[in-house]
Amino acid sequence: MNIYADYAATTPMSDTAINAMTNIMKEIYGNPSSLHSIGQRAAEYLLQARIDVAEAIGADFKEIYFTSGGSEADNQALVSAAYFGRLKGKTHLISTTIEHHAILHTLNKLEKEGFDVTLVEVGSDGIVDPKKIEEAITDKTALVTVMFANNEIGTLQPIKEIGAICKEKGVPFHTDAVQAVGHVPINVKELNVDMLSLSSHKFNGPKGIGVLYANKKVPLTNVIEGGAQERGKRAGTENLAAIVGMAAALKEAVSNIEENASKTIERRRQIIEGLSKIEHSALNGDPGKRLPGNVNFCFEGIEGESLLLLLDSKGIAASSGSACTSGSLDPSHVLLAIGRPHEVAHGSLRLTFNEELTAEEADYLIQSTKEVVEYLRSISPVWDELQKGELKYVI
Ligand SMILES: *Cc1c(COP(=O)(O)O)cnc(C)c1O
Repeated sequence: MNIYADYAATTPMSDTAINAMTNIMKEIYGNPSSLHSIGQRAAEYLLQARIDVAEAIGADFKEIYFTSGGSEADNQALVSAAYFGRLKGKTHLISTTIEHHAILHTLNKLEKEGFDVTLVEVGSDGIVDPKKIEEAITDKTALVTVMFANNEIGTLQPIKEIGAICKEKGVPFHTDAVQAVGHVPINVKELNVDMLSLSSHKFNGPKGIGVLYANKKVPLTNVIEGGAQERGKRAGTENLAAIVGMAAALKEAVSNIEENASKTIERRRQIIEGLSKIEHSALNGDPGKRLPGNVNFCFEGIEGESLLLLLDSKGIAASSGSACTSGSLDPSHVLLAIGRPHEVAHGSLRLTFNEELTAEEADYLIQSTKEVVEYLRSISPVWDELQKGELKYVI
């Protein structure tokens, strides 16, 4: 059996997205900025895609800026809010300890430029308390940025509550919703979100394309100088095929969102129940307030890397932490942030999937993980010491 269980890293493209893109690549080759009818035809597709994306998140099409993906949208949102704040003497930025590196590394960069950054801690359930965000806000705060759903442990953050606080305090609010868009319902107006990042390849669209939604509260800083594309904020001829493919994938995902989520949550329940039977294992993150297709476990006494390689040999593509951290020996900053000690954070497994995962496939995931964990423990000196009582179990 072959199972791709790494949807948080990227997703396969849907036929709808492939067909929409193929049509553009074959037929709609004009430049949307050209005045002739071939160009204007392309401009119509561009506008329709902008309208479709806006509708999917409850925004106005004039608030949609196409970017090269989630990372660029995150960078532009943070830099824009920081620079705009600085004009008014506001040089303080608030975020959390469990953000994606596209946020954390941009905050590091801004810190070097003289901004003050507060990273609010999350609870052991992987969820930030909105009161702690409120307490961190000062009259110098230029931006609050909190991710919608975590890419490693899938926990959903109280975005509506944080949005209400920011609105009341008059502080711009950004959310990195790359993991959430297309998987959980989102309406930026109801949530009082001023800026939001999304990325096409996390909801069965093409890679290398994303969106920054931004309302009027924060004027955007140009990321690329040149022509007048994206209302002058990001120059360069639009990647129309990718934009249209993304819009098609998003429309499809959003139209089936409830049905897909309930099917996926059933598989999540099954996998959590199955893996919980492994001794000295623990689910990372809140069991309910998490993405429908995310399961993340720690297993004591083993290394995540060996676990992944052995699962791969059984036809299972999974992950341990995010694609950016794997390959390095540092344990996940998210698992450390929820209080997992280093030795346990190394032995983590992330299974991410969608509604297409069948009950039989979920069983195969459970069974294979059990076998691999058992085997790795049988050859692990650490597990041996734990069993003999020379080391103490943490979970
Ligand atoms: C994948 C991801 C990103 C980066 O998006 P790209 O389109 O790959 O640049 C940012 N934030 C989160 C939470 C993600 O999961």
